[in-house]
Formats: sequence, structure tokens, C-alpha cells
Amino acid sequence: VKERGKNNYQLFTSEMQQHFYRKMMLEKQLRTALDNEEFELYYQPIIDVKTNEIIAMESLIRWNNEVLGQVTPDEFISVMEETGMIIPIGKWILTTAIAQTARWHNETNKPLKISINVSVKQLLESTFVENVKQAIENASFDASYVVLEITESIAMYAESMIEKLYALKKQGISLSMDDFGTGYSSLSYLNKYPLDSLKIDKSFVIGMNQDDENKALVKTIIAIAKQLDLKVIAEGVEGAEEYEFLAEIGCDYAQGYLYSRPLPVAAFKAQWLSIN
Ligand code: C2E
Ligand code: CA
Ligand code: CA
Ligand code: CA
Repeated sequence: VKERGKNNYQLFTSEMQQHFYRKMMLEKQLRTALDNEEFELYYQPIIDVKTNEIIAMESLIRWNNEVLGQVTPDEFISVMEETGMIIPIGKWILTTAIAQTARWHNETNKPLKISINVSVKQLLESTFVENVKQAIENASFDASYVVLEITESIAMYAESMIEKLYALKKQGISLSMDDFGTGYSSLSYLNKYPLDSLKIDKSFVIGMNQDDENKALVKTIIAIAKQLDLKVIAEGVEGAEEYEFLAEIGCDYAQGYLYSRPLPVAAFKAQWLSIN
């Protein structure tokens, strides 16, 4: 027993060491990633459930590093948040996504909205509202086509945060609550924050046709959203059965592999904008 305990202990520390080492590597490589132009934005279409047409796209960051290969955002975003690197990189994301969409507006006759993920750490920055305004002005873009995706974690910062959200709304920007249903917060923020839409977290949507509880949850979220005059986007729509159920219960928009994976610029243009 003693022997096993010792081995478990060693296993545990070596796992911790590996985890620590990995994080150090990520941090080190992230420091130069922006200057080395290692980041890229992918775009995933958001589809109007009624018309089956694309109405918007979400920008999703990708990181290609020579040493580490492709690291998933779920792994490196938290490191960027902990180290504060999310501030300059978040600025780059806003500028790039807005400039890209502005170009697409000029190249097509169907203007789509751009939905951009924003970390709570960015929102906490005193210059955030001004940064967004600058990015929009620099691209001569129309703010009404900008959607910022925020998460329930903003609930921890209550009052000052609400003012900022109103300042963004005043500029004509839309706000969407991402990963809805997964946070710790209560439903009370839904009418406290100036939201335009909710994104139902993909954990409820993926495979929901085999799961009556998830179906009930999705149906209830849509009913609540309707009552509060919020649009609903279901993410993680992978199958036609899920799409059919969403259409039946009045979900407004859908996003997921059923339509498309997130795509790099060239592929997105060819497949969703029909331009080269
Ligand atoms: P998220 O904002 O909830 O983004 C949706 C994630 O679901 C994306 O993962 C997307 O590729 C994936 N997805 C889309 N459709 C499907 C589907 O049908 N099935 C499944 N299984 N997955 C689907 P991704 O790109 O790996 O991003 C992970 C997370 O990293 C994002 O979750 C978001 O929290 C964060 N993230 C990504 N890009 C950015 C960014 O530019 N800024 C910030 N702050 N966070 C970002
Ligand atoms: Ca998102
Ligand atoms: Ca999400
Ligand atoms: Ca997420």
C-alpha cells in the first residue's frame, strides 16, 4: 500500500510538472506570436433557421506556432488571459475581424454581421470601448454590423460592467451572451444587461435529439429569450435532426458543423461569399 501511494504521488507530481512546463512553453511562444504573425482568424457562418441563408459569421482565432504546432484556443486563451496578453491580441482580433468584414462588404452586395468573441479581461480595460470605436472608424465600418460575444463571467463585475455595455450599445453595437446556460450566474442579469441575443451552449445542442432533458432545456431557453425579446442562436448544430427540432421550436439562428466548420479566409470567401 505504501509503495503504491508513493508511486501515485510521483505520477501526480510528474503530471503537474508536465502541465507547468507546457504552460511555460505556451507563455514563452505567445510572447512573440503577435509580432511573428502567427495568429489567424477563421470564420464560421451563422445561418437564419427560417430562410437557411447566412446572416453573419463568428471569428475564431487560430494559432500556428513553429515549435508547438496548432494549439487550440481553449488551451491558449486562458494563458493569454492570465498573462494579460489578451489585451494586445484582443485588439488585433477586433481590428482584423472588423477590417476583414468591411472589405467583404465592399466586395459583395450582401452585408453580413461579424460576431467577435471578447474576453472579460478585455472588457475590464479602461480603453476597451474606445478601442472598439477606433477599429470601426479605421475601417469606415457600420457599427450596427458588429456583434460582441460576451460570457456569463461578466456577472462577477456587475455595476461598472453594465455601464460599459450601455456605452457599446450607444455606439450601435450588438451584444450576445455566449455559452448561455453554462455559467454560475442567475437569470437575473438577462434584463439587467442590454443584450440582443443569447447563444445556447453547444453542450446542450450536440446530440440533443437523443437526450430529452437537453431538448427540454433548449426549448425552455428559447421560450425565456422570446419573452425577453432576445434572439437565440444555437451553436453546435451538427445534425439535420437537431436543425429540424430547432426550426420547429422557433430558434432564430443556427451555427455548427452541419453547415460548415470554421474556415480560413480564402475558403470562407469561396464557399460562403462566392468571391475569390
Ligand atoms: P466559443 O466562442 O463557444 O466558440 C464555439 C466553438 O465551437 C469553436 O471552437 C467552434 O469551432 C466550435 N464549433 C462550432 N460548431 C461546432 C459543432 O457543430 N460541433 C462542435 N463540436 N464544435 C463546434 P474553437 O474555435 O476551438 O474555440 C473555442 C473557444 O475559444 C471559443 O468558444 C471561445 O471561447 C474561445 N475563442 C475562440 N476564438 C476567440 C477569440 O477570437 N477571442 C476570444 N476571447 N476567445 C476566443
Ligand atoms: Ca463564441
Ligand atoms: Ca459558445
Ligand atoms: Ca466557450
